[in-house]
Amino acid sequence: MPIISLQRFGERFGRPAVTRAADLLPGADDNWFDRGLCAQVDGETFFPEKGVPVAPARSICARCDVQQECLDYAVDNRIADGVWGGLTGRERRKIWRERDAAAAAAREAAAG
Ligand code: SF4
Repeated sequence: MPIISLQRFGERFGRPAVTRAADLLPGADDNWFDRGLCAQVDGETFFPEKGVPVAPARSICARCDVQQECLDYAVDNRIADGVWGGLTGRERRKIWRERDAAAAAAREAAAG
């Protein structure tokens, strides 16, 4: 799913799109994607080269009406690349680890 999502993201920025997420995720509510502020800027801003600051992308995300939807989508689908919802891949991985730990603790507690 992350690759599909990146293809969709790439589609937005004029990169070749192999397919559309909406075609492969029937029923997925991804209408938020079309309302993202990133549609109005250079896509490289959201996929900066190593060492290039992410502050410009964060600044745009902070003003975006669909920031939460975007972040939820990227976290739920474990998208590792780029800035989504104002967070970097490293920051999103931290959320995954915390969620995984909480889920493991809940399973342990349920098992008694
Ligand atoms: S939160 Fe950022 S990456 Fe997500 S749609 Fe908005 S501007 Fe684009």
